[in-house]
Amino acid sequence: MTRIGIGGLLVAFLACGVSFLPGLPATAKEPAQVPRGRWKQHSMIRPKPQVVAAQGIATPQPAPADAVVLFGGDSLAQWVTDTGEPAAWTVGDGFFEVTPNAGAILTRESFGDVQLHIEWASPSPAAGIGQDRGNSGVFLMGRYEIQILDTFQADTYADGQTGAVYGEAPPLFNASLPPGAWQAFDIIFRGPQFSVDGTLLAPAVVTVLHNGIAVQNNEQIVGPTSWLNTLAYQSHSPEAPIRLQDHGQAVRFRNIWVRRLPTRIEPSAEQSRPPRAIAKTPAELAAFAGAFQLGDDTTKPPVAMSVDGNGLIVRFPDRPVDMPIVPVSEKVFEFVNTDATIEFKTDAAGKPGDATMHIGGSTRSLKRLK
Ligand code: MG
Repeated sequence: MTRIGIGGLLVAFLACGVSFLPGLPATAKEPAQVPRGRWKQHSMIRPKPQVVAAQGIATPQPAPADAVVLFGGDSLAQWVTDTGEPAAWTVGDGFFEVTPNAGAILTRESFGDVQLHIEWASPSPAAGIGQDRGNSGVFLMGRYEIQILDTFQADTYADGQTGAVYGEAPPLFNASLPPGAWQAFDIIFRGPQFSVDGTLLAPAVVTVLHNGIAVQNNEQIVGPTSWLNTLAYQSHSPEAPIRLQDHGQAVRFRNIWVRRLPTRIEPSAEQSRPPRAIAKTPAELAAFAGAFQLGDDTTKPPVAMSVDGNGLIVRFPDRPVDMPIVPVSEKVFEFVNTDATIEFKTDAAGKPGDATMHIGGSTRSLKRLK
C-alpha cells in the first residue's frame, strides 16, 4: 500500500482545485445526487472527444470597450491570493504564468453571469502525463472549473480534458494546440440561481469555445466541480471571484477580459396583464369580422377575422396560429398575447370598415374585402 503523508494529501487536495479554501465560502461536502445511467466520474472508457484541427491565436483578441480587462499584458493588479494578498505569479513580456505551488489567484472583483475571454499556453516543452501535464483551470465563481490541460496528442480521462466542465462534461471536441501555442477560451456562463431559502432553482449553464471550436454547448453544470466526485450545489452569492488554478505547472496566460451579462427583465404584473376587454354582443362583434387585405399586396390570401367568445380570432395567411383579439374600446381591439392593436374605421352609421394594425411601432393597413 502506498503511504502518503498529510502534507502530500493536502497538496494533492489543493492541486485538484477543490474549493474548500480560505477566502471562499464552503461548498457542500455531500456528493451530488448522481442520476442513474450517468458516467462514473473520470471514466477511462467514456468516449474521448474527437480531435479537430483548430486555428491558433496569432495576436491577442482585442477587448470590447465595455469589458473589464483582467490582464492587459503587464500587471496582475486585478488578481489576489486566497488571503487577499497581491497575486504572486510571474509576469513576463505580455503574459503571466503560474508560479508552481504559489497557490491559486482570484480576481479582485466578483462576477456572476459573464462572457469571459482568456488566452493561455501550455508549458513548452511538454512535461508530465495525464492530469499532470499543463494542468490549470478557470474556476467560474470560484467553484465551476473549465479545465485547462495539455491534451495535444496526450491522453487523460474524457471529463478532465481541456475545455471539460471538470469531472462532469467532457469537451465536445479536442481542439488543443501544441504546447507553447497561444490558445483561447471564450466562455459564456450563467451562474446558478437559488431561492431565498437556498434551494437550487436553476443550475449553472456554460458554453465554451476553445480556439473557436464549440466544446460546451449550453451545458448544465451538475454542481461545484471537484476531483473524484461532483459536489452538491450550496447556495452562494450571485457574484464571486473568478479563480485560476495552480496545479503545479507553469501554464501561461495573457489577454483576459470579461463582460458582465445582464439578466433578463421579467415584466411586472401590469406590464404582462391581459387586455382590459369591454363587453360587446355577438352581433356587434360580427360586424367587425370579415376578410381583409394586409398592406398593398393583392396576391396574398386575405387576413380572416371571425367571432370567438367575447372577441375575434385573427388568422394571418402565413401564420399557423389563430390569434385572439378582444375589444378594449368602441373601435379598438387588443391582441391577447402580442403587444399590438387593430383599430377599425367606422362609417357614419357606425359600421366597421377598413382597419389599421399597430405593431412594433409601425402600422399595417387592413382593407376590408367585399
Ligand atoms: Mg485543472
